[in-house]
Amino acid sequence: MSARTPFIAGNWKMNLDRVAVRSLCRHLTQLASEKPPARLGVFPPFIYLADVVSELSGSGIVVGAQTCHARESGAFTGEISARMIRDVGATHVIVGHSERRHLCGETDADVRARLDIALATGLDVILCVGETLDERKAGSTADVVSRQLAVGVSGLPADTVARRLTVAYEPVWAIGTGLNATPAQAQEVHALLRARLAELAGDAAAQRVVVQYGGSVKPDNIAALEACPDVDGALVGGASLDFRSFAAIARLGASAPRPAGSDR
Ligand code: PEP
Repeated sequence: MSARTPFIAGNWKMNLDRVAVRSLCRHLTQLASEKPPARLGVFPPFIYLADVVSELSGSGIVVGAQTCHARESGAFTGEISARMIRDVGATHVIVGHSERRHLCGETDADVRARLDIALATGLDVILCVGETLDERKAGSTADVVSRQLAVGVSGLPADTVARRLTVAYEPVWAIGTGLNATPAQAQEVHALLRARLAELAGDAAAQRVVVQYGGSVKPDNIAALEACPDVDGALVGGASLDFRSFAAIARLGASAPRPAGSDR
């Protein structure tokens, strides 16, 4: 079994202002200098992306965008391309976040188009998957996340999956609600996702893919989640806006026991 370095990423969504962003970046730089065993990342609003890249330069903290447009360039007023994200020095992008799927109407095909252009442009990707409460109640969680994963991953080279893809399991009912999946619920879905990844890209790639959990992660629930063998860190929304919570999550999340071996 290969170990995976936990990846603790903050999705700032449409929050913070310039002053708060700078202050958070200073604290994050300090946190990174303590060399927490987790890989750290932040996903600021577009307008602050270049600032954050500059503020966190040399810290080792991943900086990415919360989405990108599916087309290379053109008459798409208000949109931001993968090339622009790369141009300002960001390295990652989130695709398929449930707020994009449910509030902006992005379909599985839209998510795949964004993922394809991101990878083609040189950005690494966090692909979010997750079921709604109705889907969970109807017993279709496995079908929903398997479909979202397959649409996102099928046909990609195994090496790309292994090196450039992170999957975030984010049950929609847990995002921003204060409800979180129990460790057992998270582990069940994470193990399923890893098995599906093995079918789609081979076992070696599946063992290397970081599968984050997301949904009301906080300092008091991260350790139990992270102790699950297939949970490799977290995509954190609300709690990433407060430096102390994010730092506690980064320290606790990475201190849980991990499978032995190497990582990426
Ligand atoms: C998210 O938006 O990705 C998320 C997990 O949000 P929160 O932690 O606030 O539930």
